Amino acid sequence: MVNSTMLALGQTRSCIRELFEYGLRRAAAGERVYDFSLGNPSIPAPPEVNDHFVSILRNMDSLAVHSYTQAPGTMDARQAVAEELNQRYGADLRGENFFFTCGAAPALVSVIRALATEGSEILAITPYFPEYRPFVESSGAAFVPVPAEKETFQIDCTALEARVTPRTQAVIVNSPNNPSGVIYTRETLKKLAEVLTRKGAEYGHPIYLISDEPYRELVYDGAEVPFVPDIYPNTVICYSYSKSLSMPGERIGYVCVPDRVADSEEVFAAAAGASRILGHVCAPSLQQRVVAACAASRPDLGAYDRNRTTLYDALTSYGYQCVKPNGAFYLFVKAPGGDAQAFSDQAKARNLLIVPGGDFGCPNYFRASTCVSHEMLLESLPIFEDLIKSYL
Ligand code: PLP
Repeated sequence: MVNSTMLALGQTRSCIRELFEYGLRRAAAGERVYDFSLGNPSIPAPPEVNDHFVSILRNMDSLAVHSYTQAPGTMDARQAVAEELNQRYGADLRGENFFFTCGAAPALVSVIRALATEGSEILAITPYFPEYRPFVESSGAAFVPVPAEKETFQIDCTALEARVTPRTQAVIVNSPNNPSGVIYTRETLKKLAEVLTRKGAEYGHPIYLISDEPYRELVYDGAEVPFVPDIYPNTVICYSYSKSLSMPGERIGYVCVPDRVADSEEVFAAAAGASRILGHVCAPSLQQRVVAACAASRPDLGAYDRNRTTLYDALTSYGYQCVKPNGAFYLFVKAPGGDAQAFSDQAKARNLLIVPGGDFGCPNYFRASTCVSHEMLLESLPIFEDLIKSYL
């Protein structure tokens, strides 16, 4: 006998993974596959990242590099990350505000577990990263999706306000967004802050904002990604270097609880406690040192930008409807015919792998990742064009 909730979670295949593995099988059988399923970075980490991995291994005492660090990470690394954000945003963060995690996923789980209380509710904006639902539901809180504005995918603050109740503990936002690629504007975030401040005062407890920021550095056309804690003080950041330094397999990110967060010491301690029972303390020591040295490094985003504009221009010229993304590396496109699962199945029959939007809370959209080879993207265009013709 095993835990039935965990069994159900383990037996439910992620639709993205299934598509990806289907593609691998077709490719192994010698077929040409056009795989837009995964969000796996397709540009290399900045050269200094690899240089630091090598030089730390060459020059540091081997025992020290491979040993456990303090549970939240080394203070040197935590301070380096704080200083980089302070320089960039004029913030006043300290090393003590940070603890390192194995990427954004464990950071989110820890913060959600820290904030979820019996009977509480945690909101997320649709479209949302599919893992938010199991992260929240396994914490005992209820997961409450809030539809975004239809035409822009900005937060619909009126819809959000209607779903805030005395049980609302937190709202999860993700900008630049997976899957829409949209960046929430300063104006949107200010409206959100106004609603959360007002509702928090009305219900007599803070409503926390969990800002999930793995795509913070993946921005195009000079768009601004506002620093969320500047706009709403009760913001806890969950960050990852998976996409920003193109190293998802190295599993490194952090939770940041700024001092201005209400009950910040308790929130930090509860997130650290959650991290402890999840077995996540003490993120990889080598990676902590690398990200501390490379806190200000950024990869060259030219290839993502070229894919983004090529795919957006081509699809919209064929008649597809899509908000032009200015961040992350995805296009979220209205499915011709309105049923994204049916459309994705049709595409799959031609080895074009696109993700139906049901798991993102939008069953009438599909997601195409643009972290792919440009050559493959160009070859796929006639298939996209053919597929929409039967709907026009
Ligand atoms: N949040 C969002 C919005 C993501 O897209 C992802 C990964 O794709 C994660 C969190 C998890 O990131 P990590 O690989 O750092 O755990």
